[in-house]
Amino acid sequence: MSGGAGSTGKPLRVAIVGSGPSGFYAAEALLKASIAVQVDMYERLPVPFGLVRFGVAPDHPKLKMPTAVYDRIARSPGFAFCGNVRIGGDLAVAELRAAYHAVVFASGAESDRAMGIPGEQLPGSHTATAFVGWYNGHPDYRDCHFDLSQEVAVIVGQGNVAADVARMLAKPIDELRGTDMAAHALQALAESRVREIHVIGRRGPAQAKFTNRELQELGELQGCTARLAQDALPLSESCQRELADKNNFVAARNVEIFRSWLGRSEPERPRRNIVFHFLKTPVELSGEGRVQHIELEHNELSGPPFHQVARSSGRREVLECGLVFRSIGYRGLPLEGVPFDEQRGVFANQDGRVHDSPGVYATGWIKRGPSGIIGTNRADSVATVASLLADVPQLSREDKPGGEALLAKLAGRGVRIVHYADWLRLDAAEIARGQAQGRIRDKFTRLGEMLAELA
Ligand code: NAP
Repeated sequence: MSGGAGSTGKPLRVAIVGSGPSGFYAAEALLKASIAVQVDMYERLPVPFGLVRFGVAPDHPKLKMPTAVYDRIARSPGFAFCGNVRIGGDLAVAELRAAYHAVVFASGAESDRAMGIPGEQLPGSHTATAFVGWYNGHPDYRDCHFDLSQEVAVIVGQGNVAADVARMLAKPIDELRGTDMAAHALQALAESRVREIHVIGRRGPAQAKFTNRELQELGELQGCTARLAQDALPLSESCQRELADKNNFVAARNVEIFRSWLGRSEPERPRRNIVFHFLKTPVELSGEGRVQHIELEHNELSGPPFHQVARSSGRREVLECGLVFRSIGYRGLPLEGVPFDEQRGVFANQDGRVHDSPGVYATGWIKRGPSGIIGTNRADSVATVASLLADVPQLSREDKPGGEALLAKLAGRGVRIVHYADWLRLDAAEIARGQAQGRIRDKFTRLGEMLAELA
């Protein structure tokens, strides 16, 4: 490779699209490689950190600690943050590919799966994505409205996002006030009348996707009782075999937690209840001009251990409710110029190499789908960067101009590029606003506010 890109003075130029965990871990792996690299990270928002800022629940500040690592990466020589630039809008994918030896998409899963049932679009029916984005101050969801004057909410899905949504609805507001929850959400939740939260799983307690700590926490909330809609845990022989598998300890512990809640009845005048339902699939939402009912089909499981699927048993029930949040998984969005796997909702790729697109890579949720915890993305990004580094002999054949020309082009298009130093100013301003109110930070939640602060 001597003399080619990657040698001193002629860095390999890499663009990363997306500034969440997988983007930063890809940057880290590239900067640690034994070749000269210039990494430019593009982010459509003026603020970095993706789901760590906009996904992790405000009452879990420890889970946001990786931002200290990302901050260190962002300050490294050979790294530049280019915020407020939308790839596929402000810049075309083809322009990016022309400027860089390699482009790594770490753009996450920005959309969500649909249930595909009648009534899903009724007012009062929402995605968990929107609710999470709203309480975390994501500008895309700033103006969402959730009718929290309703007393009964239903959450469809039994994963950690469902747990976050349930906890935000159930937690005493005084325990949220000091967090970085968006101010508009704090205010709305302070007036919430939601007191019954149903969490619906299409399969059984042994297949719930919660991690133990998240599930346990739902049973320990002040003024709230976690209980089960059924008076016995539905555990078939196949479920028992799943639970006996020593690698399936998270599910086994979840089942123990559920078991400890069996027989709990609604205590006198509790403030709130979280009720877990198993083996039920929503088939219709209905109501006069808004959601008032959800119809649930009762299921049985069929198939061998670890491959059990829900099949209708023919029985149904109707629950009255005023709010529905579907929390059945995120989904990546297609982008012009990048092959998309419609079925999986990811960029079509093999080991992070995007199909039919030399020099284009994917990592994180847009590569493998929405799974795992923050740290899972580290190994994933290391693997994608390993694919990229193996391709360097081919990638480095051509000279590439890198970001400078692009930034000039963007400025000509009227885009206010937000550099890392700009983010540090926004960060300091948010923290100062928060401290004045006894809070961790008070987030800017509108693009205009962020850019005005930097003007
Ligand atoms: P998830 O863990 O995949 O859970 C999705 C849930 O939706 C499952 O219960 C699934 O049931 C159900 N589901 C899927 N399609 C359905 C349908 N058509 N009808 C009814 N139910 C359906 O996804 P997630 O909760 O969105 O979380 C995404 C990732 O982020 C996970 O890896 C999660 O652990 C992570 N996360 C972590 C934290 C944390 O660490 N605190 C917080 C939030 C999120 P089946 O099993 O039957 O498919």
